[in-house]
Amino acid sequence: MTRRTATNVLLDTALKNFYGAAEEMELSENLIAVLGSSERRLEVSVPVEMDDGSIQVFKGYRVQHSTAIGPAKGGIRFHPDVDVDECEALAMLMTWKCSLAGIPYGGGKGGIACDPLTMSMKEKERMTRAFAARIAPIIGTWQDVPAPDVNTGGQEMVWLMDTVSKLRGHTEPGTFTGKPISYWGSKGRTAATGYGVATCGIELLKVLGREPKDAAVAVQGFGNVGSYTALTMAAAGAKVVAISDVTGTYCSPKGLDVQKAFDHITAHPKKLLEGFTCSGCEKQGLSDVLFVDCDLLFPCALEGAINEKTAGQVKAKNIVEGANGPVTPEGDAILDEKGVLVVPDFLANSGGVIGSYFEWAQNLSGYFWTEEEYNNRLIHIMKGNFKLVWDYAQSRKVKMRRAAFMAAIQRVADVERLRGVFL
Ligand code: NAD
Repeated sequence: MTRRTATNVLLDTALKNFYGAAEEMELSENLIAVLGSSERRLEVSVPVEMDDGSIQVFKGYRVQHSTAIGPAKGGIRFHPDVDVDECEALAMLMTWKCSLAGIPYGGGKGGIACDPLTMSMKEKERMTRAFAARIAPIIGTWQDVPAPDVNTGGQEMVWLMDTVSKLRGHTEPGTFTGKPISYWGSKGRTAATGYGVATCGIELLKVLGREPKDAAVAVQGFGNVGSYTALTMAAAGAKVVAISDVTGTYCSPKGLDVQKAFDHITAHPKKLLEGFTCSGCEKQGLSDVLFVDCDLLFPCALEGAINEKTAGQVKAKNIVEGANGPVTPEGDAILDEKGVLVVPDFLANSGGVIGSYFEWAQNLSGYFWTEEEYNNRLIHIMKGNFKLVWDYAQSRKVKMRRAAFMAAIQRVADVERLRGVFL
């Protein structure tokens, strides 16, 4: 049977990864054809009255790759590069991420091709509300549940939810996640992704017969994901020997005071490590964090950080991917040759989407959990998912990234097989 290809690099890679794993799993050609296509690719026009009185028409998209397991789930991105193929690639990845996480969702993604950094708040609000009205027919608690992504956050979720609630004549909390705590959001969400990333690091040490207290750790990126990853590793007893952000690498072989670094960024107007110091701390260049000799390296900043140029210099014995796609396929091949073990992003950073599921579950029941309940449930799920992928990788003798793909595809394929192909 023919395979799809795409001119968009992200979509082409997503398809190739899927076909590669599906063939290794000996998935039937029928299932490969079904799961290699998206259920729905919606393009909408989004007319916005700008502050100068002119009308600008933006293009918006929402792609639902699969709703086999449950409602589509995935973010809404505001960025000039957004297009329908990029949304499809990211929607497909969401299908696998939600499946692997064991939560009752399929995969979706959407966005508007725009440059929000050049727009006023009022322009952004009008654009977000117009987009909400355009995609309203295909989103809903049991249809498709969007969330924040690049350049969108709690404020955009409030505009989206408020618009859909007004259109439908009732409060619609379960249609969006990533909302502020004061408006149907959930305690625990801010730390969830980093908490989950660190949990994977701790579980990895465990299966390798090590303990956090004997491990040296480096974290690239000290934003939302990186800071909570570093704090959680430090709380577990690990020695955090390097952290970094756009202002450089901060390291100490004796271990850094991570709480002090967190307090520093909290007080800094741009949330940066600029000016941070503590006992034994030395400042180094931007990329140096990647080359620190340590047991666990957590790349939690940008995609493509570990690539054909940088992978050869990595000294860490294990990598846990906190960011999305921090290791390129070329980087991955080099790390593999060096024997570096990589815990893949869509397992390691799934605490974010599991947190979204918790928010949705609370919204459905109208009952809010404590932060402690939230964290205990998150750790329980992350540990189980880590074990699932680790065992799968050991039994099939494949790398964790391939194992994660295979386990994720398997669950969706099983449900597709049970449901049949009517629609
Ligand atoms: P963020 O903007 O809060 O933090 C990014 C951090 O990376 C900042 O400290 C920034 O200074 C630093 N950084 C940027 N470029 C750098 C460079 N070249 N070298 C070193 N540091 C650099 O973003 P975030 O929410 O923490 O997201 C980080 C990554 O994790 C992204 O890939 C994102 O897609 C992914 N992710 C985030 C979540 C979430 O819940 N926030 C969930 C899943 C995946």
